[in-house]
Amino acid sequence: MTTILNGKLYADIIIEQLKTKVEKEQKKPKLAVILVGNNPASEIYVRNKQKKAQYIGFESVVITLENNISEENLLEQIYILNEDTNINAILVQLPLPQHIQTKKITEAIDPIKDVDGFTSYNFGRLILGYKPYSIPCTPKGIIKLLKYYNIDMAGKNTVVIGRSNIVGKPVSILLEQENATVTVAHSHTNNLKDLTLHADILISAIGKAKFITSEFIKNNSVIIDVGINRTENGLCGDVDYENVYKKAAFITPVPGGIGPMTIAMLMENTFELFKLQQNYLVL
Ligand code: NDP
Repeated sequence: MTTILNGKLYADIIIEQLKTKVEKEQKKPKLAVILVGNNPASEIYVRNKQKKAQYIGFESVVITLENNISEENLLEQIYILNEDTNINAILVQLPLPQHIQTKKITEAIDPIKDVDGFTSYNFGRLILGYKPYSIPCTPKGIIKLLKYYNIDMAGKNTVVIGRSNIVGKPVSILLEQENATVTVAHSHTNNLKDLTLHADILISAIGKAKFITSEFIKNNSVIIDVGINRTENGLCGDVDYENVYKKAAFITPVPGGIGPMTIAMLMENTFELFKLQQNYLVL
């Protein structure tokens, strides 16, 4: 029997818990999202994030900027948000236009408002095993979902495909902190199948539709599909779900798996930053 790891279900539980917590707060957490340009996928993501924030009872603001904004002016926007004591969390929707250096922009965010955990301060603390102000949303959501289904990571042979700063790298760190034995694969990896066939837990964050077929996976393994790929038949993951389903013990669907968990973690991080800033002010 294969169990579907229902990220949507667990994300909804987290959202309801946050809503209850926010109701008890006099002042409400405030999330600021910066959207540069008019990438249709980014526009959808930002709209969904804002809707969820409003549902929970957060205040939220979306700052929409022209595609040709200069790096300098974008940095200026971030400095304004850093200084604004009403803003608790800042998110810059990626990808940014090519003329802007993403690292310069993410680094400009005050670490205590860095809701994605992308600044070197928070990322560095994560790698060192110190508590960061926030942990990147998708990796945090993956670990939470595994724990929700009581999937023990300790000692498990775990293969992460993808080494991006957003998903692959941070999730491999978190898995190692859960005592998993982690192998990270990428586009230069030789004989990928030899690795994945021994994976008790396989996490795919590649961005290639239905790339992972049943030939890649070990019997009764756990399959986490992070990929979001837009095809002419709609959204699909990196994993060929129908083909893999029966062979896996646990599998995340796309949509309804890691996507909703990512948004729930963004909301959780916003609330946690709000509380941290409150306590800081009280101290
Ligand atoms: P990137 O493009 O930044 O990274 C992709 C990674 O996959 C790279 O490390 C790349 O290797 C590796 N890769 C590419 N092709 C192969 C291959 N044939 N074999 C092995 N490795 C390969 O993507 P992201 O990490 O940002 O995102 C990955 C996917 O996850 C995308 O589909 C994205 O839309 C989705 N995503 C989903 C989220 C969610 O909420 N569910 C959140 C964030 C992302 P190399 O480093 O060598 O180039």
